Amino acid sequence: MKYFITLLLITFCLSAQAQRTKIDTIVAEVTYYDTIVTVQVIKRTKYDTTFIKKIYKTADPKKKIIKDTTKDGNSGNKKPPMPVAENVEEAAPSSPSLPKATEESLPPDIDTPTKHALSISAKELRFHLEKLASPFYEGRETGKPGQRRAADYIAKAFASYGLPGIGLEGSYLQNVPLISETWEDIGIKVNDKEFEYLEDFYCFVKSNRTRAMTERDEVVFLGYGIDDEEYSDYEGVDVQGKVVLIYQGEPMNKDSVSYLTGTKEYSDWTYKWEKKLEVAKKRGVRTVLFIERNIPFFVSRYSYFLTQPYIRVAAQDPAKGYVNSCYISTKMAKEIIGNKFSKVVAMRDKINSTGKPQALKMKCKIQIRQKENKEKVDGSNVLGYIEGTDPDLKKEHVIVTAHYDHLGKKGDDIYFGADDNASGTSAVLEIAQAFANAKKEGEGPKRSILVMAVSGEEKGLLGSAYYVDQPVLPLENAVANLNVDMIGRIDKFHPNDPNYVYVIGADRLSSELHEINESMNKKYMQLKLDYKYNAKDDPNQFYTRSDHYNFAKKGIPAAFYFNGTHKDYHQPSDTPDKIDYEKMERITRLIFYTAWDLSNRTDRIKVDQPQEGK
Ligand SMILES: [Zn+2]
Repeated sequence: MKYFITLLLITFCLSAQAQRTKIDTIVAEVTYYDTIVTVQVIKRTKYDTTFIKKIYKTADPKKKIIKDTTKDGNSGNKKPPMPVAENVEEAAPSSPSLPKATEESLPPDIDTPTKHALSISAKELRFHLEKLASPFYEGRETGKPGQRRAADYIAKAFASYGLPGIGLEGSYLQNVPLISETWEDIGIKVNDKEFEYLEDFYCFVKSNRTRAMTERDEVVFLGYGIDDEEYSDYEGVDVQGKVVLIYQGEPMNKDSVSYLTGTKEYSDWTYKWEKKLEVAKKRGVRTVLFIERNIPFFVSRYSYFLTQPYIRVAAQDPAKGYVNSCYISTKMAKEIIGNKFSKVVAMRDKINSTGKPQALKMKCKIQIRQKENKEKVDGSNVLGYIEGTDPDLKKEHVIVTAHYDHLGKKGDDIYFGADDNASGTSAVLEIAQAFANAKKEGEGPKRSILVMAVSGEEKGLLGSAYYVDQPVLPLENAVANLNVDMIGRIDKFHPNDPNYVYVIGADRLSSELHEINESMNKKYMQLKLDYKYNAKDDPNQFYTRSDHYNFAKKGIPAAFYFNGTHKDYHQPSDTPDKIDYEKMERITRLIFYTAWDLSNRTDRIKVDQPQEGK
């Protein structure tokens, strides 16, 4: 209550001062407890056509017009203290709300979206970001207390904007049930000889299912384990319930031409590890053993996946599509093959020289232990809903997402994730607030807006994967997804140019989404839209690496806003002091304008591009 009275007083004083001095724009900052209240008083000037430009210029902190209007002289130029919250209560955001700018108080050239876009400010973005990337949130790792505190912070912000709770039991949360898997017991014995895990063999917990014990007295050598129209190692071989031993890759003749492709190009049988495990599953194999010549190299390359728990959406187990598998050293392979070793090598060479498959049964006692430890992990998506104002169009909605989870703590190191992705999360909060305010002022969007902060992104885009499976609003009514992931820094390709953003995926499903984003940018923001990472053959494949991808896979046009990586990417040094908040403000406003157009246009945008893989 006290808060509102203070705000009213400030607003009144500012208005009075504006009348006296005929300044058309006053930006004032007042620190109230640990909240910066940014107050903009916009006064009509008949012929002022530079109004919007003026606002953009104030984005430079040195040139800012700041009036100190508080009696106790709390200067607006001074950076207000940002104490680290010590408990959840303190972490709760106050709602920095803007006074209403009435129609009469606006200059003639300001349009409705701009009026609301202007409420998105570097100050408030900074306020949220410094909170979310503070030690209290402990790097926001999915399933950990820091992530739950961050969810609570975001939910309280949505509540302060007056949004309805459309999540679990009237809350803002969608619970994301996850499972964390690690090896509890992993081992292979051949002829009673125990082999060493990560030295003689390795297996991914992700692509295996728990099998406490597989015991056989025979292993089948099955060439390359390929089952294709051109070439099949399975034809005429009984593999039901068997352990099979195969080579990686595919047969190539003496001129290095593949029997599968008929060219020097490899087929998917070489590139896609899943393929051999899928066909083995169909053929009834129990376990596949891949011969791997360089175990130390791959153990080092895949050390993260081999040593960290694998976390997945509880209801989706990718391992169900595969048979169990292990990568074994030639030392172990020799023990399995025994005195038939030279025969097996000769068979492989024969496959390569003739293109004809070869198989061999080998007697040996093999015991494989693959027992997983599974633990439940709860992630959560935080949902903010602004219902559309058009009775017909409001059932359609635009989804604006950002992941709020990050990498957590390792030892004493906190991975603060200021850019990744406290920046996107703060943007989503500001966009939610701008739409909520627009609605309060009777200028709400025609279609509905769903703003969503998702978790589990760093574990494999899990929060968004869960959402598209269990949507709270019918997915067929989702017009588009705008996803914000890392917008607070610059990369090495733009050393002195904070005026850019990478836009990825906007044209992949709908040419209109691309055009709308372009035209909003041209009209309002004039950022350099960089499409470098949108190239389909870009080796980084960022298109598949953030949450929009899960929406795109469901046929929903999606755009990803991104600043590229930098030396602090996924390091504890990704901290709030390195963020360019003015840049964030510009990008967030562009996203708001694009969402505004998508939600207010007469016709829903069309999917007019072929969907990949369909
Ligand atoms: Zn990220």
